[in-house]
Amino acid sequence: MALFFDIDPPETWLSPDASPVIIAGPCSAETEEQVIETARELAKIPMVRVFRAGLWKPRTRPSQFEGVGDTGLQWLSRVKQETGLKIITEVASPVHVEKALGAGFDMVWLGARTVVNPFSVQEIGEALKGSHIPVLIKNPLNPDLTTWLGALERISRAGIKKLVAVHRGFSYYKHSPYRNDPMWEIPIELKRLFPELPVFVDPSHICGNVELLSVISQRAIDLEMNGLMIESHIRPQEALTDRQQQITPENLSNLLSGLIFRKPSGSQEFQSQLEELRSEIDKIDQQLIDIIAQRMGIVEQIGKYKKVNKITILQLKRWNQIFRERIKDGEELGLSREFIMKLLEIVHEESIQRQINVMNKKE
Ligand code: PEP
Ligand code: MN
Repeated sequence: MALFFDIDPPETWLSPDASPVIIAGPCSAETEEQVIETARELAKIPMVRVFRAGLWKPRTRPSQFEGVGDTGLQWLSRVKQETGLKIITEVASPVHVEKALGAGFDMVWLGARTVVNPFSVQEIGEALKGSHIPVLIKNPLNPDLTTWLGALERISRAGIKKLVAVHRGFSYYKHSPYRNDPMWEIPIELKRLFPELPVFVDPSHICGNVELLSVISQRAIDLEMNGLMIESHIRPQEALTDRQQQITPENLSNLLSGLIFRKPSGSQEFQSQLEELRSEIDKIDQQLIDIIAQRMGIVEQIGKYKKVNKITILQLKRWNQIFRERIKDGEELGLSREFIMKLLEIVHEESIQRQINVMNKKE
C-alpha cells in the first residue's frame, strides 16, 4: 500500500528503552479537585507518564454532560506544573487544537467519532501545522483499517512526525463481552504494514467495564503494543461519563504491577529450540498450502462437471453435511468449533469463487 508516512522512529522520542508508555486519567475533567486529586495519585505510579482528561466530550445525546470545555485547560496545566506528568486531551476541531496548543498540552488525540470524517481530520491537520507535538489517532468506531490509515496519513501530511495509532476496539453487531470488540487482527495488520508506527491500546473503551481491563492490557503487552491508555478516576462511582469503566488510581497501580512484560527474544538455547519448532511449522504450512491447492484443483474439476451437466454451484445440503462432519472431526482433535467454522467458511468461499470462474469461462 503506497501511503504517505514520514514519521520519526518511536525510540527517538517516545520510549528510548521501548518500555510501554502508560497514559492514565479520567474520561472527562469534571472539577478542578477531581482532576488534581486524580493526577496526584497517578503521579505516584512510576509507570504512568501522561495524564489524560477529556475537555470537549463527544456524546451521543445533547442532554448528556458534554465536558467542561475551555475551563478545564488550566486544570490540566496545573497538573503538568505540579506533578510533572505530560498532559493530553481530545481535539475535534481547529479551535480545540489552538486552545490545547496555547495551554501547553504535550500531546493531543483524535477520537473515534472524528477520525471517520476526512473534513474534520483535514482541518485539525491544518491547525496542527507547524507544531511538533505527538498526535494520537484512535481507530474509527467501525472495523475499517482503511479509514484509520486515511486519518493517520492525513495528519502525517500536515507535517506531524510523532504519530501514534490508538486501538480502542470496534463496534460489533454480534454479542460480545466487550463494549467495543478488540478484533486484534486489525491492529496486528496495521503493525505488519507499518512496523515503525507505534500502536497504543485503550483497554477502557474496549472493555466498557473494569473486570476485563487487566486481561486486555496483558494481551496488548503480549502483542508488543507500545502503550496503554487507561481511564482512571479518583471516585469512579461519581464519574459523569464512562462510569463503569474507570478505575481508581490504586487499582490502576495494582493492575500495572500485575502485568507480565515478556522479552521479545530469549537465551541462545531458547532461540535454537524455537528455530527448530519454527522450521517444523514452516514445513507444515507448506504442506497445508499444497493440500489446499490440491483441494481447489478438485473443486474446479467438480465445477466443470457441474457446468457440463447444468447443475447449480451451491449445493446447500452437501455443504451442511460437510460442515457438520468437519466440525465433529475437528473437535475430536481438540480444535474449537469456532475455528473450524471460520476455516471452512473461507475455504468454501474460495471454492465457490473457483466454480463461478469455471462456469463463466467461455470455451
Ligand atoms: C475517550 O477517550 O474518552 C473517548 C471518547 O474515546 P473514543 O473516541 O475512543 O470513544
Ligand atoms: Mn471515555
